Amino acid sequence: MQARAFLALLGFVCVALPIAAQTDDAAGQQSATGDAPSLPAGPDSSPDGVLRPPARPDAAAEPTPSDSFAPAQMDDPSGRGGEARSADPAPAADALASEAEGPTAWQLLAEPPLAHHACLMSATLLGIRFEELAPITSPEDRDCGIARPLRVTEIQPGISLPGGAEMRCATAMRLALWVRHELTPALRLLPSAAALTEIRPGSAYQCRARVGGSSEKLSEHALGNAFDVMGLGFANGSEMMIAPRDGSGSAEEAVQKAIRHGGCLYFTTVLGPGSNAAHDDHLHFDIAMRAGGWRLCE
Ligand SMILES: [Zn+2]
Repeated sequence: MQARAFLALLGFVCVALPIAAQTDDAAGQQSATGDAPSLPAGPDSSPDGVLRPPARPDAAAEPTPSDSFAPAQMDDPSGRGGEARSADPAPAADALASEAEGPTAWQLLAEPPLAHHACLMSATLLGIRFEELAPITSPEDRDCGIARPLRVTEIQPGISLPGGAEMRCATAMRLALWVRHELTPALRLLPSAAALTEIRPGSAYQCRARVGGSSEKLSEHALGNAFDVMGLGFANGSEMMIAPRDGSGSAEEAVQKAIRHGGCLYFTTVLGPGSNAAHDDHLHFDIAMRAGGWRLCE
């Protein structure tokens, strides 16, 4: 019995000493990660006195190079972590440098295919008649163009755009909604009410700078974002042209004000008579995107 007890004690010492050294290392490594060391310092501290294999530092506790970025990874919604973020600027700068001119204005507005098809479906359901065109570009200015243009011939059933008008699908949708919800109801209140059959277009797509000011900035017309209404034609052959009407006291003045102000619900820019001399004979509507969704309705 004594010999067996001696051998057991000898075995215990041989096993326990290396374990104590390993667990001390593991505890030190865990402290580096901020985790409180939970391993016993040695077999003496084992609560039940049972010798267990050393709690080998596992992947989660081991301070590998990737673990040192763990806090950044948690804060980074991209999940790319601090190491990836710190490496980002160089490739981004290289990419920009290799594309000195960058994408054009119309390329930046190009609709993803799925979104475009959804818009086409909505336009069809809304009663817009159109044909799809090949991408429009302009030799005069590389920023002019439409990636996925439509030529709209009828903005609502029975209401044509004589000659057709080229624009983006989003522009056609806003125009159709304005016709349906603002223009048509207002026109029914005219004493000489007759069915609206035509919206006489001014500029639709046109590669040019803005008019009516000193700005050389590209017009929204040059991107397919704008449409000008010159006048309205009715089934009885009458027409109503856009014109300065303030103070006339007529039903036409009331209708023109109503459809102009109503346009601001669908478009982000509305200009017309009184805005400047260049807009005295038409209503300009566009869907320019501005910071904070700001609108310019005059
Ligand atoms: Zn215009």
